[in-house]
Amino acid sequence: MIDDAIVKQVKEAAVIEQVIGELITIKKVGPNYIGKCPFHKENTESFTVSPAKGIYKCFGCGKGGDAISFIQEFDNVPWPTALKIVAQKFHIDVPEKAMSEAELGAYKIREKAVYALQKQNEGFREDLQKNEKALAFLTVTRGISPAMIDRWSLGYAASGFFAGRITYPIRNVTGEICGFTGRRVNEETVPKFKNSADSDLFKKSELLFGLHYAKRFIGIADKAYLVEGQHDVLSMDGIGLSNTVAPSGTAITVQQIRKIKRFTNNIVLLLDGDAPGLKAAIKNITPFLTEQVNLRLVVLPEGKDPDSFIRGFAKGDGECDSPLRYIEDSEISFIEFKALQYRDEMDKDPAVKGKLLNEITQDISLIEDKNIRLAYIQKCAAIFGIEEGELQKDIRGLREKLEVKPTGGEWFAFEEAREKITELKEVTILSRFNHVIENHLRGVRNCIGMNCIPLNKNEIIRLKKLTTTIVFDEFVQEAFDKKTKLETPTVKNLKRLISFGFDVKMREGTEIKYDKETGDPYEIAYINFTDW
Ligand SMILES: [Zn+2]
Repeated sequence: MIDDAIVKQVKEAAVIEQVIGELITIKKVGPNYIGKCPFHKENTESFTVSPAKGIYKCFGCGKGGDAISFIQEFDNVPWPTALKIVAQKFHIDVPEKAMSEAELGAYKIREKAVYALQKQNEGFREDLQKNEKALAFLTVTRGISPAMIDRWSLGYAASGFFAGRITYPIRNVTGEICGFTGRRVNEETVPKFKNSADSDLFKKSELLFGLHYAKRFIGIADKAYLVEGQHDVLSMDGIGLSNTVAPSGTAITVQQIRKIKRFTNNIVLLLDGDAPGLKAAIKNITPFLTEQVNLRLVVLPEGKDPDSFIRGFAKGDGECDSPLRYIEDSEISFIEFKALQYRDEMDKDPAVKGKLLNEITQDISLIEDKNIRLAYIQKCAAIFGIEEGELQKDIRGLREKLEVKPTGGEWFAFEEAREKITELKEVTILSRFNHVIENHLRGVRNCIGMNCIPLNKNEIIRLKKLTTTIVFDEFVQEAFDKKTKLETPTVKNLKRLISFGFDVKMREGTEIKYDKETGDPYEIAYINFTDW
């Protein structure tokens, strides 16, 4: 067992916003930090970190704890390992005799592997300095400065598994080396690339080259560039686009997309401008959409990858004055991208247009956010010259078939509000989850969220055990949907609550009046739902 005094010392020294802020993007709101929860899929920022209390809490899925339990959950490591990781960050020594055999065993296996890779990398770096040809390959052929070689910890393997290859350490998001990619220096060496074998530490399909370094810049820019190879990342970093990552020689996976999503929802794909590559890229768009990424694309001039494109400018054979400007000015949506790729074929054969339109409609139907979906529908209607309403109808139909529905029927932040609801004998219900969180952070804690999915019976009973008085603190402007003439989901839910014996109060009128002097709202009157 680890000594309680040491555990206490680590907990006190741990700056929780630093520990968590290194692994996901969080922003300061008042005394707390908020961000998107890394433990469940969400669009609202329900994840809060309290520096004062040294804890984190997700209002969406209920997960919470301290810096150590965060690492335990996030890195999927045993608790003693998580404790060690946090202790190390804040320069606290955890004596190993303090750990049990089993604890020490689990910790040591991983630590040994990480240490061995680190040592191996040091050897590679020394070998690089001794090998003129390898050094020239990087500095002369690929135009990489010694400072960049140092920053990216590039090396050379004179012998062994990566023999005759430049080595690129692949790190996890924390920065630990998990494995390597090796690229040949001599053309005769085959194969061109070699990756470390998959292991508990090196999971090629989950790691992203550059993420440990890029995460800070991704957070600042709220955008990540996704490229194909290590040299693309290096060249992008060289022109100040340090928010760039690459998979290691594989097509992008859902796990990798989720890793990026911890830092931003905006991903820009940089694509080599050759036709077969672009056609292949079209097939890889779907996982980004199902993961609800705001995807943009940049198509580079024909025959160029990001690395050769950027280096071409350095040599002065570019077509515009700066690669940075080209990349920043050439972003297009996936709809524009698809339309562009099939433009010639569409002109020749009208059937192609129909097929493409079908495909794009399916893509759009995967997007859960109603407003984003609408923006895409408008764009698509404009590009293809069709009626927005027609598209909307198709997409609604598709979504019904797909049954892409947010999880629902449950209260949002119920456990967090339980104590206050019990105390006040009254609950405030909001339909916007971010408003629920804002209220909790402001100290209004008897607040829960309800979305447009019919409430589960069990959830209604759960609330009834605490109170029967509900304030629905939002305006209900329309009881009936204009088009379908059906009751809106919110009204349906409120009626359902009344049928269970709740007393529901709601706002009168349809707008808040604000005091002209102070800007504060006033005259918010609540009336009984049945009088409404
Ligand atoms: Zn969560």
